[in-house]
Amino acid sequence: MVNYTDRIAVLMEDIVARVPELSFIDMSRVLVFARGGRSGREGAYATCHCLCLPDSEPGYYFWRSRSTGELTRRSQWFVTRSPQVRVGTTPIDYMVSFSLPRFCDQTLSSTRKQVHYRGDEQWVAKLDTIVHELYHIDPARPGIRRMERSDGTYAANCHGTRFFEDVVRMVREYLATRPDPEVFEFLRYDFEELTARFGGVVGTAFRGFPSYPQRYADVLEPQPANPPGVECPVEPLKASRYARAFTEDDLVMREFLPQGSRQLVRKGRYCAA
Ligand SMILES: [Zn+2]
Repeated sequence: MVNYTDRIAVLMEDIVARVPELSFIDMSRVLVFARGGRSGREGAYATCHCLCLPDSEPGYYFWRSRSTGELTRRSQWFVTRSPQVRVGTTPIDYMVSFSLPRFCDQTLSSTRKQVHYRGDEQWVAKLDTIVHELYHIDPARPGIRRMERSDGTYAANCHGTRFFEDVVRMVREYLATRPDPEVFEFLRYDFEELTARFGGVVGTAFRGFPSYPQRYADVLEPQPANPPGVECPVEPLKASRYARAFTEDDLVMREFLPQGSRQLVRKGRYCAA
């Protein structure tokens, strides 16, 4: 079977080695994993998740009376934190998730990318997505890259016309370095072709699939004083249901199918010598 997330990680290594603008990325600190996503359904092809963001400022939720405008109750003080993910001794700073099988079936003609890639083969849409996700990694500070508009302010979301154009340019730059076609060969096949060719599509996923490491709210202990001028009942915050720390033991192999996925049992992994 083809290990799709491993193939993407190897391709990413090659991209950051060949595209100078992405050469700051240390791929040993980037984890590629798979999420579920059916082809032909709405939803992202891929997502870049930042794990190295600092804790948020302390805050609380509050409820206001509609008639008087006064605060009627508030939650406990909390901060939001990033979970820790480690593979061996290496801390992971970013994760990039791919929706399978949806990503495998992405084509230029099924997206708005066609205008940028006239005359290119359909699979280039997938290469564009991979470069797109790498470009989200901010070279200057921990977090997702902010896109500056021409007036010097930052775009409200992390995209902007220039973002998409920059990605197209980097895809062209990468292909112009004449990379070994073996490295991106797997992108040429859609899900059905991959299954026929390799006997199945597997990828790295988290044990708690479909859940994966996400920012969580952490109640401050001890609780800071009441905010100035706020005198109202305080409600406990529900404990976060997300785990806070993950290691390679939380990673499993899943096989992806047209309508779902299943976890594979690794045979022989713990065999005694
Ligand atoms: Zn994006």
